[in-house]
Amino acid sequence: MCTKIINCKWKIIRGHLQLIVIVLMALSLLGACSSQVTPQDSTVSAPSSDVGQPTSAPPSASELNCTSPASPTPALAEGPYFKANSPERSSLLEANTPGTRLTLTGSVLTTDCQPVVNALLDFWQADASGQYDNTGYHLRGHQYTDENGRYELITVVPGEYPGRTEHIHFKVQAPNGPVLTSQLFFPDLQDNQADQIFDPSLVIDITEDRGSSLEATFNFIIKP
Ligand code: FE
Repeated sequence: MCTKIINCKWKIIRGHLQLIVIVLMALSLLGACSSQVTPQDSTVSAPSSDVGQPTSAPPSASELNCTSPASPTPALAEGPYFKANSPERSSLLEANTPGTRLTLTGSVLTTDCQPVVNALLDFWQADASGQYDNTGYHLRGHQYTDENGRYELITVVPGEYPGRTEHIHFKVQAPNGPVLTSQLFFPDLQDNQADQIFDPSLVIDITEDRGSSLEATFNFIIKP
């Protein structure tokens, strides 16, 4: 009971203030929850939602350049510079990435020349001066093949470093399949023959050389 009018008014005001404080606290909690982002393990995450959308026509037989039974892409050493959880992206270029631009396209196929949809491709490489980014993810990225088994990688030609000719490391994996780890090489380099790891069956095919940019193809062949 309110014994005095002033006391009564004060109780009403205090009650209103408590209600406002409770509402404000509830609103701030809701805001904090909605801004949380759940990180994903990018090397094992599901393909992004745009994978599976029709983006290209099925490759022609000549484009596939595959005769069944095809030899599987050979495995090579992973080397010391692989980092898990690379970002999902088909272009590894960032602002002012120096070097000769390389656009590499092709397919992931089974040994009986069937395209592998949603195959994981994870690439990592040295920059144009032969340096790996071992603190961040510069020139590292993974992607998934489209509904026709195709991929496209946009990057720069890697530089050489002591003991190694130019090369791009990769991992390729069909959905729920084993991981194949290997390396791609460039044609007609003098240092290829001196490189103990070099394998001529892993040389990319340069289809266009414009000096400051190259276009090339390579098909990855994996066991079904
Ligand atoms: Fe390397």
